[in-house]
Formats: sequence, C-alpha cells, structure tokens
Amino acid sequence: MKLKRILLLTLLLILTLSLTSCRVNWFNESYDVPWYVVAVPTAIFCAIMFTVAGLIISKQSYVCPKCGEEFHPNFWLAMCSMHIGSDRYFKCPKCGRKGFCKVSRNSKE
Ligand SMILES: [Zn+2]
Repeated sequence: MKLKRILLLTLLLILTLSLTSCRVNWFNESYDVPWYVVAVPTAIFCAIMFTVAGLIISKQSYVCPKCGEEFHPNFWLAMCSMHIGSDRYFKCPKCGRKGFCKVSRNSKE
C-alpha cells in the first residue's frame, strides 16, 4: 500500500512537471493558454470528485469477513482505498486483517 502511494505521488509530480514544461515549450509559442487554465479546473474537479466519493464511502459501514466487525472507514482511507465493485480494501480496526470488506446491509437503508 505504501509503495503504491509513493508511485502515485511520483506520477503526480511528473504530471505537474510536464504541465509546467508544456507552458514553456508549446503554450508560449503557438497557444496563448497558460498551463493553469487546464490544470486548475482539473485539480478542482478531481478534488470535488474525491471528496464526494470519500464522504459517501465513509458514511457506509463495512463488515470484516474474518471477525464480523462492523466499522466506518476513515474519510481519508475511504478516499484512497482500492475497490472492486462495492467491496473495498480496508484494514479491520478490531482484528487487523487487511483485505476486501463488504458493505454492511444496515448502511444501505
Ligand atoms: Zn476483523
């Protein structure tokens, strides 16, 4: 999990750097569009999407398949967690099992 986060951060850094170099190499010559015209709305859009998704997910409760513990995931964890369908990858706060947890039926009401 930690390695993936580092990879993701590196990717974001490269993207940010390449956006800056776009401004120097192309935009100043042929286009009059500063890099932030593209980057800022994209960043805002992503931030909103992540926040909304995180809020929705952290309101749901998940069930640990090993010990049956029902828990609400932390907002930041919910935002960054991997998922397959409605199953999400969390660490159980009770037994510490790391794996995919199903949405609790109680939270679907
Ligand atoms: Zn558990």
